[in-house]
Amino acid sequence: MITPIIKTFRERPDNIDDKGKRKWIKARQPKGKWYTRRTVVAIFLLAFFVLAPIIKIGGKPFMLIDVINRKFHLFGATVYSQDTEIMALLMATVVIFIVLFTSVFGRFWCGWACPHTVFMEMVYRRIEYFFHGNYQRGKRKKTPTKLSIALKYILFFIVTLFFTNVFIMWFTGPEQLWIIWQSPIAEYWEVYVAMAAVTGFYFWIYSYLREGVCTMFCPYGRMQGVLLDSKSITVAYDYKRGEPRKVKGDCIDCGACIEVCPTGIDIKNGTQLECVNCTACIDECNIVMKKIGRPKNLIRFTSKYSIETGKSSIKSVRTYAYSGVLLVLLTALVAAISIRTEIDASLLRMPGTMFQEAANDTISNIYQLKIVNKTDGFKTIKLRVLKPSYSSFYLSEHPIHLNENGSFDGVIILKRAKADISSRNTPVELGLYVGDRILETTSATFIGPRGEK
Ligand code: SF4
Ligand code: SF4
Repeated sequence: MITPIIKTFRERPDNIDDKGKRKWIKARQPKGKWYTRRTVVAIFLLAFFVLAPIIKIGGKPFMLIDVINRKFHLFGATVYSQDTEIMALLMATVVIFIVLFTSVFGRFWCGWACPHTVFMEMVYRRIEYFFHGNYQRGKRKKTPTKLSIALKYILFFIVTLFFTNVFIMWFTGPEQLWIIWQSPIAEYWEVYVAMAAVTGFYFWIYSYLREGVCTMFCPYGRMQGVLLDSKSITVAYDYKRGEPRKVKGDCIDCGACIEVCPTGIDIKNGTQLECVNCTACIDECNIVMKKIGRPKNLIRFTSKYSIETGKSSIKSVRTYAYSGVLLVLLTALVAAISIRTEIDASLLRMPGTMFQEAANDTISNIYQLKIVNKTDGFKTIKLRVLKPSYSSFYLSEHPIHLNENGSFDGVIILKRAKADISSRNTPVELGLYVGDRILETTSATFIGPRGEK
């Protein structure tokens, strides 16, 4: 006898049917205090997204990813691509912060701050509710007409085009975007191609793929299995209070928590990859609990450890370890920012060269000198040989003029009298000055004839 395979939530995602076809999740619009809180957070985040590249602080953009000029304006501060240590430390700090935050607070980010969830749940799904009405037990309260469907997709497109332009503004700034809009398309065709591609892609995402981004593609969602432990706080069903359903437990198995879930899952099955911690099920279950006269928060933000023991604790070896690493990184980041120099310089021996002997009893070495200005201002740099004494140099351009974020790449020849050379290798140090203020030093080795005096 063949045993029928019972398809459970573990066998396949809820948005795919038995034949492998797309199944639409028909989520009812939630209502309650958590949904109101999320709405407020979403309004703040959307305002930040739109306004951050427009706002200026001291004449500088509050947020701008200026790829062409290789600099980033972050919260009003300017970081240049040459600040490699700071960029690397910043990225490592962000990654460890996300890991620590996730291990303590689970996927709080997904439901509350992830751009995809904010756009999907707070913008596009609300447009849909506006044109087609809410769902009731998996069915629309009123049947969508052809006109309402067309209007919905037209508004989807307009909103997507608007957000795409805001996204581009994060890279160009509002002034440059304004210039692009006013110029003939042929002049900025690359931008318009990118705009069409991004708009088309996101229109498809919000019209068709929707929760599939979280349940099938998002790498962060897939990392939950390794980042969460029993003390991580997630949206969880209190099975100790709820079970056995409809008998002694508080859960009446009404299915309201499933009806509102934007990824279509049943939180009563435990923490799942598809749960984005949106809290819609908390709100809905609280309404049910109120109706049946039971205490609220059968579904709530809690940990498996808390449900099992009745105690709350976020302390675990992992939390301590991640916090320690984060502290080290933050200290290194602060140190790197505080010792950040205004310019970067490097002095490298010209490949394949040793030393040159001139007729007037001088020895010369050839180097490649690179200088990068990491500030917003114009700089005039003067060089001085700090070591060894009695050396002179030849440089085609001196003093060196550097524009904002500009760089210099040239050949410098160092000369010494043969009589001053007492060893084959002598340390060389150059000082880079603005006026009398030394900004940076750079060093190399001067090579002379072996052992000659
Ligand atoms: S909404 Fe609450 S009572 Fe209803 S099925 Fe979900 S957990 Fe049970
Ligand atoms: S299970 Fe609850 S918190 Fe998780 S995605 Fe569904 S509605 Fe949101």
